[in-house]
Parts: sequence; structure tokens; C-alpha cells
Amino acid sequence: MSLPVVAIVGRPNVGKSTLVNRILGRREAIVEERPGVTRDRKAVDAEWQGHQFTLLDTGGWMADGDSLDDKVSAQSEQAMRDAQAILLVVDSTVGVTPEDERVALILRRLDTPVLVVANKIDHQNQELAIWEFMGLGLGEPFAVSSLHGRGTGDLLDRLVSLLPEGSDEPFEDPKTSDPELFSVTLVGRPNVGKSTLFNRLIGEERAVVHDRAGTTRDAIDTIVETETGPIRFVDTAGMRRKAKIDQDTEYYSLVRALKAVDDSDVALLVIDATIGVTHQDQRLAERVDAAGCPIVILLNKWELLNTEQRGKIGDDVQRKLGFLGDPPVLRISALTGKGVNRLWPELQQAVGDYRRRIPTREVNACIRAAQAAQPAPQGARVMYATQGATDPPTFTLFANRELPRTYMRYLERSLRETFDMGSTPIKLRVRRRND
Ligand code: GDP
Ligand code: GDP
Repeated sequence: MSLPVVAIVGRPNVGKSTLVNRILGRREAIVEERPGVTRDRKAVDAEWQGHQFTLLDTGGWMADGDSLDDKVSAQSEQAMRDAQAILLVVDSTVGVTPEDERVALILRRLDTPVLVVANKIDHQNQELAIWEFMGLGLGEPFAVSSLHGRGTGDLLDRLVSLLPEGSDEPFEDPKTSDPELFSVTLVGRPNVGKSTLFNRLIGEERAVVHDRAGTTRDAIDTIVETETGPIRFVDTAGMRRKAKIDQDTEYYSLVRALKAVDDSDVALLVIDATIGVTHQDQRLAERVDAAGCPIVILLNKWELLNTEQRGKIGDDVQRKLGFLGDPPVLRISALTGKGVNRLWPELQQAVGDYRRRIPTREVNACIRAAQAAQPAPQGARVMYATQGATDPPTFTLFANRELPRTYMRYLERSLRETFDMGSTPIKLRVRRRND
């Protein structure tokens, strides 16, 4: 039986061989003092807490060539893809190098789970250095000293938890599971035109559409393949033409709509423009907003409005839904299809914002400027910031102490404005220096 394979990748001299030896628990020399000695793929079997696996040292893959192709060949990419897990070793005394970034880019595209090993953290006071590597977009780095063994236990615990028990067990990667899909909900009162719009959206895109059991009980989601990738429409069973017949009255209830909103990245609030913004529309918008879900307002049945009505409804929206800030407003006719195609760019924009990754340098410049303009109270200060994750954009702020909520909101606003992030949700996490 072959063991699960763990590939170790990283630039020369970051400490890959030292790490392999540390894991093997013996000094049998793969390491030699000269940098870049391990030119060939070396496979050795290792064990941790009763879990066996094969370690594949990929020293030879990152050769000295200048182009990315030289450094990471198609063959090595395949090998990484075949591995059950990958350890990306980086040198915390050096920081993120362009080479690290390029390898991270490739690793992010693979389905294989990756752990970032921030090596050469020989003392606790060096741990601050690991946060820079959050910017690689591969999750929280492990602070490790391969030389002294510091932090390797935690790393190995996590590593074996990723490995299948036997090599033939399929590995389900969390990265490719459902929550990653950009998700959209159509909300609105009965008869505003949700089903009509939804069927038109499916038809317009001429896309592969398939159903998937939703996260809410009894829910059926629809996946629509678009140019920017799949988009999940949450809980759409009742909106599909066929299903419309046996739709139960409970279906459109607020409760159900709000459950769907919780699973969504954007809510399309459909409003019947011939009626205007009703009290119920307002309540719905409030609840969606409170759930932290960004909203796109769709004024439907637009073709039925005369010029005077058209002028009036803009004020109506402003007056009654002003609390939403400045959400995109589209005027559409689901029935005739007019204006509906403008929805796709709107969603693409939302997906783009959601998936966006901002270089650490720029994040820090933004936070620095925000702090200069308005310092946090009581000497609180963010020393370092980085975008640790996308989907949605998540920023880690490394601070000397707790930051007040109001100040967090101020920083969030600064990030949103500086990077023009539209209505996409942004998450901020604060790490205290002593944590
Ligand atoms: P590789 O080229 O990635 O395989 O790197 P090596 O394992 O050969 O290590 C390169 C150099 O970094 C050697 O001189 C190691 O002794 C040193 N090194 C490796 N890990 C650590 C560590 O955790 N702390 C310190 N201070 N040095 C390390
Ligand atoms: P839902 O309850 O929100 O799903 O609403 P439906 O999609 O079932 O639409 C309710 C009614 O409004 C149907 O008779 C639709 O034909 C009609 N309708 C939907 N969109 C439009 C539109 O853009 N213009 C007009 N004139 N009628 C529409």
C-alpha cells in the first residue's frame, strides 16, 4: 500500500531539508551545509502520532532558471497536484520574495491543501514576522524553527489531520466545496417578479444550469455557469418554471428568505416599481442589511411606468431605503428582458470585489494613512496589516492592543474606499501582539 504523499516546496535555503530531517527525527544527512544541495526529488517515509506518510522533498524543482517555467516545471506542478498535501516553506528572516509569491500563485490554483511553514522562527520574539506571509493567500502560517524543533508539533498535528487514512481514500478539499461559490439570493415580496426574473436570468446566460441540494433544509440551489465562473442562486426551487406549480405558500416567507440570505454574498432585492417601495420592502431590506449581506436593488416592471412615475420612484428609493447607503439600483423589466443583461456585469463586479487580493504593501499604506489621519484612542495602534484571505476579503490587523469597534469600522471604511471595494463584505480580524 502506498502512503499519502506530502510534497515540500520552497526556494533554496529556506530550510526544507532541515525540516525533513526534523520530521524524520534523525540527522541522516539530506542536509549539507551548501545551499541548494538537494537537487533531486527525495522521497522518505515518515510517521507522526501513528500516521504514516511519504515526504517528497522538491529541492530540485526550484532551480536557478529565471523564468517561472524554469522554476516550476509542468512536471513539478503535476507532482504537487498528485500530493495529498503540500508544505510551502518560507524563510521568515527574509520575508516574502517574488519567488514565494509566484509559487503561492500556482499553489492557490491547485486543489491540494497547502500549509505555509514560516521557518527560522527560533525565538518567540520573531513571531511577528509570520504575518507577512498571510499575504500569500494560503492561510495562517505556522511559526516553526526546523533547526530547534520549535512549532513542528503543531504543524505535524495539522498536517496529519489533512491526510486520508489510506492512500486510496478520496480526499475532499475544503477549498472546492460549496461555500466557495459566489452565492446570490433573490428576495422580495410575492408577485414582484422574482420567478420571472430568475427564469430570464437562466435563459439569458444560455449557461449550464444544474441543481444542487441547498444548505437550508429542503432548499434547492441553482448553479449557473457564467463567464466569471459558477454562481450559486440560493434556494431557487420555487422559482423554476416546473416547480412553480406545487410551490407552497410558505415558500416566500420572510423566514425562509432570510435563511437564504445568510447563505449569500449578495441579495437582489426585487421591488415592484408600479407599486413603489412598500413598508414590507423596507422591512425586508432592513433584515437583509442587518444580516450583513450587500444588496442590489432591482426596480422591476419598469416598462409599465410613465415618465412621471419613473421620476418619482428614484426619490422613493432614496427616502425609504436610504439607510442602505448607496446600493446599485437597476431598472429592469423581467417580463420583456429589458435591462436584465446589466445585472451580469453588476454581479461580476461583486464577484471581482469578493475575490480580490490587495498586495500587503498597499494594505499597510492604507492603514498607515488612515491612522495618521485619525489615530485610534488610548494609544492603540495597528502595526502591520495584511489581507489573509479572499471570498470575502479578510484583513488581519496586527495591533498592540484591542481596537474599539467604532475604530474598526473606520478602518474598514478606509479600506473599502481606498480600494474601491463596492458593497462586498469585508472581514477584519485583529491579532494582539502578545497573542
Ligand atoms: P533548503 O535548501 O531549503 O533545503 O535549506 P536547508 O535545509 O539546506 O537550510 C538552509 C540553511 O538554513 C542551513 O544553513 C540551515 O542550517 C538553516 N536553517 C534551516 N532551518 C533553520 C531554522 O529553523 N533556524 C535557523 N536559524 N536556521 C535554519
Ligand atoms: P414572484 O412571486 O416574485 O416570483 O413573481 P412572479 O415572477 O411570479 O411574477 C408575478 C407577476 O408579475 C406575473 O404575472 C408576471 O408575469 C408579472 N411580471 C413579472 N415581471 C414583470 C415585468 O417586468 N413587467 C410586467 N409587466 N409584469 C411582470
